[in-house]
Amino acid sequence: MSDHHLSTLAIRAGQVRTHEGEHSEPIFTTSSYVFRNAAEAAARFGETAKGNIYSRFTNPTVRCFEERLAALEGGAACVGTASGMAAILATCMALLKSGDHIVCSDSVFGSTIALINRYLVKFGVEVTYVRPDSNDAWRNAVKDNTRLFFLETPSNPLSVIADIRAIADIAHAHDVVFVVDNCFCTPALQKPFELGADIVIHSATKFLDGQGRCVGGAVVGNAQLVGTDVFGFIRSAGPSMSPFNAWVFLKGLETLELRMRAHSAAALELAQWLEGQTGITKVHYAGLESHPQHALARSQQSGYGGIIAFDVERGREGAWAFIDATRLMSITANLGDTKTTITHPASTTHSRITPAERERAGITEGLLRISVGLENIDDLKADLTAGIKAVRG
Ligand SMILES: *Cc1c(COP(=O)(O)O)cnc(C)c1O
Repeated sequence: MSDHHLSTLAIRAGQVRTHEGEHSEPIFTTSSYVFRNAAEAAARFGETAKGNIYSRFTNPTVRCFEERLAALEGGAACVGTASGMAAILATCMALLKSGDHIVCSDSVFGSTIALINRYLVKFGVEVTYVRPDSNDAWRNAVKDNTRLFFLETPSNPLSVIADIRAIADIAHAHDVVFVVDNCFCTPALQKPFELGADIVIHSATKFLDGQGRCVGGAVVGNAQLVGTDVFGFIRSAGPSMSPFNAWVFLKGLETLELRMRAHSAAALELAQWLEGQTGITKVHYAGLESHPQHALARSQQSGYGGIIAFDVERGREGAWAFIDATRLMSITANLGDTKTTITHPASTTHSRITPAERERAGITEGLLRISVGLENIDDLKADLTAGIKAVRG
């Protein structure tokens, strides 16, 4: 199906109908599989014959999701995981050994940093954090034992854009595996493999589901790194995706392109509108002409996504007054939902880092982040207007 467009692949790729002729994808709720005879069982266990053995390894509903997401990203192999964090853990466990070094963007998801600093380092993995938008920082951080680059772009919550092509060239000049967490854009807006990435990570919990229902993740890449190495870890260690969740994500993928275009259009309109409001001192959104990397974002993304951050006057007091005055938006740290969400990063998602680290990262006390959903835009503007009035006191 690889000559089809993204929206077609998102609806059709990966489906194999059973003898029942079902139109929609079925959910295979089975933990194990039956062999026709003893020789077939031996062949499957001996890996001389392909086929299902046990749902920790493979499951037809999960496989349908994996093949569909692989088709959307343009990767040869995909492994579904129990969460986005399980996808990152599986990638690190499969590809790294004691004594290896990671270069990681300093603006990645908080649990990614916790995973590296609290656990991977315990097993002798070294890490250097770099500013994602400084190509020199990536280049200068490379050491003889560097094995992996880890990047998220756009960054959360400030939409800092990293140059995927340039960082891929640096990685490949040093035989380093380049991993991109594509959670914020999804393949509907950004195709990291076309820009040089080796592995793409997803938290399916966010825009792939798009409706806030299930936790899951995925790793996409080539047959060796992902199809063999990452799959081997999942098979042995067990953070596999459940078939029910895979089915929910399949239904989410069917509307992915429509939703991502709608999230992007609404977020751009709201970001431009927010920029003109008194009480709001700065808006961070890569779709704005005022964003320092607007041109780079335009060159590697086909849309700017649904996440906006903005600074309000009066610091934390102003930010909390804003949140508490809203009625429609959900006060929750989750993102990538049809429901618009609002959060105060300094006291929630970024509360566990020190004030000095927050300041360096640009997470001010007056910063708010919204994940723009698919409600009517005039209703969202009315809700934001109530917040703006409350900031001004
Ligand atoms: C949420 C998120 C993750 C972790 O995914 P879970 O499904 O919550 O485990 C990883 N990366 C990014 C960018 C995220 O937003």
